[in-house]
Amino acid sequence: MNDHYKQGAHSAINLQHVPCNICGFSEERLITIQNGYRIVRCKGCGFVYVNPRPTAEILKHLYLSYLQEKIEDPLLWDAYMKDIFARAADALARRFPKGGDILDIGCGYGFFLSQMKKKGWQTCGMDVSETAVSYAKGRGLNVTLGTLEDIKHKESSFDVATLFYVFEHLPDPLKALQEIRRILKPNGLLLLRVPHTTPIVRVLSLFGIKNNLYDPPFHLNDFSPATIKAILRKADFDNIHIVIGGVTRPSSMLVRCVTLFFGLLAEVSYFLSFGRFLLPGVAKTIVAEKR
Ligand SMILES: [Zn+2]
Repeated sequence: MNDHYKQGAHSAINLQHVPCNICGFSEERLITIQNGYRIVRCKGCGFVYVNPRPTAEILKHLYLSYLQEKIEDPLLWDAYMKDIFARAADALARRFPKGGDILDIGCGYGFFLSQMKKKGWQTCGMDVSETAVSYAKGRGLNVTLGTLEDIKHKESSFDVATLFYVFEHLPDPLKALQEIRRILKPNGLLLLRVPHTTPIVRVLSLFGIKNNLYDPPFHLNDFSPATIKAILRKADFDNIHIVIGGVTRPSSMLVRCVTLFFGLLAEVSYFLSFGRFLLPGVAKTIVAEKR
């Protein structure tokens, strides 16, 4: 990926300071600097986020080329997410055996939606990437270009909303949850998949290993199990369950082996602890219900 998004490398990037999205506190402690951006921890609730960050307008512009640079071949994304999508689809089928209306926010190329469509669900998707939207449309999917702010879905439209590796990108995740809550039907379900980078960065820094794993300014939030629960409760979601929920399959063999090792370690420890132990640093799937 090129470096045009790095702070200081592009004179047009205006930065804005924001208070903590969860508790509103403005006091923070610096964790590290990556790609020229400050990663901070809120002194009020422990939420880890990028501050200051580019404005929403600039971020929208940066996302125009994001997907092509991150994922050159759409089918690689399908392979990367195969296990996660299958596990999510199974969980949703247990809850909604007859299917229902599903919205995939940040649906990318639409691979999860096409799986759900085959299972008889009414599917709807949205994404900020033109490339992704036209690809998904070309596969016969009902997908719209835009953000939750641009596209106003009707109140109580969906049984399920999903966000796979999207929530960490959102400039205002609390506002997004409030909008998702509005468009979900009563007792509708939200399913999120998020990474958890802070524990990995902490371990690497013990060994003096430099990295850009926080991936700013694309990833703006890093949710721990505690902060994801806090923000969901603040947005009036209930029955929150966090599960390990599968392992990604990166194309690089080395990264795949590391991911598989820690993914399996997470799965086994989760299973042996009857769902009580969530290995820090591995991505989690979170399911919550509209109250
Ligand atoms: Zn806070």
